[in-house]
Amino acid sequence: MTNRRIKDGDHVLPGERLGVIEEFIPGAGTFQDQDDAIYANITGNVRINMKERKISVESTTRTPLYPQRNDIVLGEIQSVSKKSAAINIFRVRDVPCEVPFSGFLYIKESVGGYVEQMQDLFTPGDVILARVQQQSEGLTHLSTVGSRFGVLRASCSKCGEFLKLKGTRLECPQCGNTENRKLANSYGQVPETGNANETSSPQASQ
Ligand SMILES: [Zn+2]
Repeated sequence: MTNRRIKDGDHVLPGERLGVIEEFIPGAGTFQDQDDAIYANITGNVRINMKERKISVESTTRTPLYPQRNDIVLGEIQSVSKKSAAINIFRVRDVPCEVPFSGFLYIKESVGGYVEQMQDLFTPGDVILARVQQQSEGLTHLSTVGSRFGVLRASCSKCGEFLKLKGTRLECPQCGNTENRKLANSYGQVPETGNANETSSPQASQ
């Protein structure tokens, strides 16, 4: 194992040895083991404060992006019960999530009017565009009320082919099966779902 001399600004990985407590006071982003050695706890750049003799690691990875109220999110329907649906949120404010967030959609937040059961609106596997209604205690409650929100992509429940919009219904180009969903007015336009690892180049904002 190499024991390089750590200096201010060095890029380190979790578990990398930074020094010992005789040299430094362990700061944010570090931990200390039983042998009084200091290690990086996160990926980032070393910051050494000579005055305080404190060593810390400043994160260079993306800070987790928590869905906030009124954020626009993309998600995939995981399961549907009579009155609600569970959703894996994989994109928040146009940024792919490193780890999907769990979201819930209640039937009263799915369309403006009365619907008897959620199964008439959504099916597991559907990709939806939704708005964050409320974020409390780690639970993200979504809303798909409004023509902008709803299903962006759905698969045929008989053969799995992507359904095409025909009038106000969805039709399977493969087997001719027709289905209903709570559609978003941009049905068929799903943004790239690429994962966070391939978004290194900054994109022009609009
Ligand atoms: Zn089909």
